[in-house]
Amino acid sequence: MEAFQFYSPTQIIFGRGTEEQVGEQIARRGGSRVLVVYGGQSAVKSGLLSRVLASLEQSGLSCDTLGGVKPNPRLSLVLSGIQRAEAFQANFLLAIGGGSVIDTAKAIADGVANPELDLWDDLWMKKVPLERSLPVGVVLTIPAAGSESSDSAVLTKDDTLEKRGLGSDLHRPRFAILNPDLTATLPRYQVACGVVDIMSHTMDRYFNPITTNQLTDELAEGLLRVVISSGRRAMDHPGDYQAMSELMWAGSLSHNGLTGLGGKKDFAPHQLGHELSARFDSAHGATLSAVWGSWARYCLDADVSRFARFGVKVWGLDPTGRTERELALSAIDATVYFFHSLDMPTCFSELGCGLQSEKELEELTRRCTFFGTRTIGTFRVLDHDDILAIYRMANH
Ligand code: NAP
Ligand code: FE
Repeated sequence: MEAFQFYSPTQIIFGRGTEEQVGEQIARRGGSRVLVVYGGQSAVKSGLLSRVLASLEQSGLSCDTLGGVKPNPRLSLVLSGIQRAEAFQANFLLAIGGGSVIDTAKAIADGVANPELDLWDDLWMKKVPLERSLPVGVVLTIPAAGSESSDSAVLTKDDTLEKRGLGSDLHRPRFAILNPDLTATLPRYQVACGVVDIMSHTMDRYFNPITTNQLTDELAEGLLRVVISSGRRAMDHPGDYQAMSELMWAGSLSHNGLTGLGGKKDFAPHQLGHELSARFDSAHGATLSAVWGSWARYCLDADVSRFARFGVKVWGLDPTGRTERELALSAIDATVYFFHSLDMPTCFSELGCGLQSEKELEELTRRCTFFGTRTIGTFRVLDHDDILAIYRMANH
């Protein structure tokens, strides 16, 4: 078994009605002045925001609110959130929503705790390490990003449209409330995007150059099987409590590190996808399904047997009389077919950005290499030419 460290301090509070505990959860952690962050309208319309505010009040907490977080959250709202939090003297951030809201709350927490630093130029550009932040709690409304237990926060800079993440254990929320009932109002499209993202967090760890931790592999494969079957059920039976329960818990486990212990994270599909979100403002999950098949076919030869195992263990392919390569190709086809069955895009035209000119593909590639300063991936290390080749494959 390979060496690893596992740190997942987020307390998970799972089940019906658990959002009523939110005030008590913050109070027992010493929070007294809470900035509540939420998105567009869903938490207002469903009444969730009012219920959460009532719980905070009941626990004697003071609160201010900041709404309007958009998917692919922007730096500008974070900066105004920092001012708001400072003026209110917030000592705790509460996110009500999904990845976009949670990441906004994490970034505001970083900004308030480091007033002498420039959030983007110092922290997000990784010139200065993050050494302190405010505590963040989460009431999750969509199983997808896994930000409720992850160490990451992803922002887009408004003027340059750079989409960048910052990883730090200080970004792991103190608690996350997971009530599957809160997902009942999700549009089908968002459920599908979430299924793809949860699978991607697991696959982007599973396909890596070190594969000697059997338990890690089996956890990843089991999680993927459950997400696939629950994803199908959630699409056929919107709001199904059992299916949404499985997806919610899987979302948290797929991005807290558990399914990649001992491995060397790849995450190339995420990096390829981030450029598409940045450029076309596409939903995160949709960008991942749009590039995954092309990435997988391009990288197949890095480890054919890994894809073959994935086919047998995750997709239930029968290995009898088939070569590893045949199994591997069938596994990729099965994954792409599944994304299609969720009505998720599997190429650029289906993503809705149309066909891109060679000049556009070159620009996407340049941005994906952070203007020539990095390669991406570990399963197969991808340089400028590899990235361009994958974007070309997806450009139909
Ligand atoms: P999201 O962007 O937070 O939300 C997507 C949409 O779903 C919003 O329009 C939101 O509407 C709606 N929505 C959420 N809950 C709803 C509900 N219960 N009922 C109805 N509508 C609801 O989705 P996400 O996929 O969780 O987050 C995506 C972002 O997270 C991307 O920026 C991605 O890059 C990032 N990400 C972060 C991590 C990480 O670890 N930090 C990992 C992967 C991805 P309202 O605004 O009206 O609520
Ligand atoms: Fe993701």
